[in-house]
Amino acid sequence: CGIFGVVGVSDAANFIALGLHALQHRGQEAGGIVTYDHEQGFNSARRMGYVRDNFTDSEILRTLPGNVGIGHVRYSTAGNKGQTAIRDVQPFFGEFSMGGAAIAHNGNLTNAEALRRDLISQGAIFQSNSDSECIIHLMARSMGKNIPDRFEEALRKAEGAFSVLGMTRTKLMGVRDPLGVRPLVLGKVGDGWALASETCALDIIGAEFVREIEPGEMVVISAKDGVQSFFPFRPKKSRFCIFEHVYFSRPDSILGGRSVYETRSQIGVELAREAPVEADLVCPVPDSGTPAAIGYSQESGIPYGMGIIRNQYMGRTFIEPTDAIRNMGVRLKLNVNRALIAGKRIILVDDSVVRGTTSRKIKDMLLDAGAAEVHFRIASPPTAWPCFYGVDTPQREKLLAANMSEDEMCKYLGVDSLRFISLDGLYRAVGVAEGRDPANPAYCDACFSGDYPVPPSDMLDKGFKT
Ligand code: SF4
Ligand code: MG
Repeated sequence: CGIFGVVGVSDAANFIALGLHALQHRGQEAGGIVTYDHEQGFNSARRMGYVRDNFTDSEILRTLPGNVGIGHVRYSTAGNKGQTAIRDVQPFFGEFSMGGAAIAHNGNLTNAEALRRDLISQGAIFQSNSDSECIIHLMARSMGKNIPDRFEEALRKAEGAFSVLGMTRTKLMGVRDPLGVRPLVLGKVGDGWALASETCALDIIGAEFVREIEPGEMVVISAKDGVQSFFPFRPKKSRFCIFEHVYFSRPDSILGGRSVYETRSQIGVELAREAPVEADLVCPVPDSGTPAAIGYSQESGIPYGMGIIRNQYMGRTFIEPTDAIRNMGVRLKLNVNRALIAGKRIILVDDSVVRGTTSRKIKDMLLDAGAAEVHFRIASPPTAWPCFYGVDTPQREKLLAANMSEDEMCKYLGVDSLRFISLDGLYRAVGVAEGRDPANPAYCDACFSGDYPVPPSDMLDKGFKT
């Protein structure tokens, strides 16, 4: 999911709509905005579908006056399966004795089911199926004397991955879990402030990127007092999601002081060193494989070409929630550039192999178009484990790499060769020169390694074995 908030600007909703539009790649199912204005109080609009179809309309934006607000774009993950209903769309809002508050969450709480059971037994009335709603109920039950205290106390009971925005009548709040699994950045816009999942959302509103919110940090921001910072959790070594670098974040964002584009093309460089092959053309599976293909081409000296053309009017295939839509999606979205492909030995570069369904179809399309050979190169290690921290990987049984060796995958996909970047190679590409330290990994890489930095306790209760 993507989150965006501002304080101290006029027409907060306009800024939030733009910020969410820049974060649309993080969630395409639904979006919502909550603002506060002293005449009208809290205002909210939550809609299914794209930001541009819902929040560019001045009719809706006019119902969201105020100088402070937060917003969310949603895609459903492990914790929140099934069709998104409007009641699952964030931000969530609650009214407490000291005034209302709203929250918007990116990540996944690994103890949400246990929390929900407890809260329901204490009388909480849940409105949604979302793990994130626990946060607002925990705030309601907190003894904290003000809303920031309650926000902090609620999140001390949460486990797993969370970058969360909160708002009161006058304040914008933001927090990252102690491992800092999901991103969150601070920006300055005029006399006001913004918090966003990624820096690309600051760029669109002309905000200056100030810094990342640190793992375990909470900030409380008001127009009057500026940014106050706290560290409410027991400190831990950070474990940022390495897959944000590979796929999830936008290439024009800055993560950990590095351009995501630069990191991705460096992954391609590492991949070319680890897995060279004689061929005529390096082609990405657009858009997710593009920067890595450029890096592979530069390092190998094999020309780069757009052998597959993407229809710009389709969203991300993976993020569509059902198998049926996902299956159709491949051809609706990608087509082969025959004139370029025919007779050539192709190095096909993509970011990841998950179920293998997309990859198989793309290979068939290349062969139909007359490719002589297809060598598949993947910019991440085999995805063999599900994510429980806010990225929608399927159950382990459906992951190709959980069921097959690399040789078997190569046969199943029907390609001439198949190679994945190593975990060490990936770490080098993100800037850890010595590779992955197995005793103390610098990132979360559980979907590749099975090394889960936070025990997925709800899943363990259901019999999941790590
Ligand atoms: Fe990111 Fe993978 Fe860890 Fe999930 S399991 S947080 S996708 S690295
Ligand atoms: Mg892709």
